[in-house]
Amino acid sequence: MFLCDYHTHTRFSFDGRPTATHDALCRRALEIGLSDIAFTDHCDVNGEAERLYDFPFDPDASFAAMMEVKEKYKGRLNVVCGIELGNPTQYPETARAVLNAHPYEFVIGSLHNLKGVPDFYHMNFNTMSDGLIRQLFDRSLDETLEMLRFEGMTTLGHMTYMHRYVTRSGKKLDMKPYYEKIAAIYEELIRRDVALEINVSSLWKGLGIPMPSMELLKLYKDCGGKLITIGSDAHDVENLGKAIRKGYAILETVGFHEIMTIRDGQRVMQPIQ
Ligand SMILES: [Zn+2]
Ligand SMILES: [Zn+2]
Repeated sequence: MFLCDYHTHTRFSFDGRPTATHDALCRRALEIGLSDIAFTDHCDVNGEAERLYDFPFDPDASFAAMMEVKEKYKGRLNVVCGIELGNPTQYPETARAVLNAHPYEFVIGSLHNLKGVPDFYHMNFNTMSDGLIRQLFDRSLDETLEMLRFEGMTTLGHMTYMHRYVTRSGKKLDMKPYYEKIAAIYEELIRRDVALEINVSSLWKGLGIPMPSMELLKLYKDCGGKLITIGSDAHDVENLGKAIRKGYAILETVGFHEIMTIRDGQRVMQPIQ
């Protein structure tokens, strides 16, 4: 059976649970019936370059750990060696050096913060005016489009990441005014042959929307998008694979019937089952 989780974090991520070892995640993957798993530990390029973390990313140790389980679980679990590259266009040379250092099979490009602004995770949208929220969201779309110029991404991670935190604060964000900018992002993805991720962390966190939302997945379809990857964005063993089936159901409703995976370094479209 085909069930995949292509966005997972281990203890090698600054915010990963210490018990989330590669081996523990693989054991859990088999337990819950996953056929494919991609490890995508954080390398937030701006955070690394500006030394914002007490726990810097160790790319050598992370890659070695992925290779070890890839070998160990061969024939039982398709393990993909990936990375989540945060804000690569803020420090493109650093980002390039990270990608050149190891033969990553799968690269998620993610926008976690705007230039010179903290991660959306740290913002208080409860006290923020609607005008400022709209302004920040508009900027996040501009910087997402700009990020796509960086060569080497396989998929765009959690587009509308900010939407998760606005929704968490109980506020609604009308997407209609942004359709044109979002369509421009989709067109650029398609032109560059980069996939779009459906990130279901906001579903298992109870926010009721994936990232991007169903409405925006429909827009991707209307723009001619075909390449979809899916991930739970689990940072610990318990959340691995959570809400992936809900994500599948949403994709089927919108009219996507295949998920993009990587097998032996090649892209393979797998039918949703
Ligand atoms: Zn992320
Ligand atoms: Zn992530």
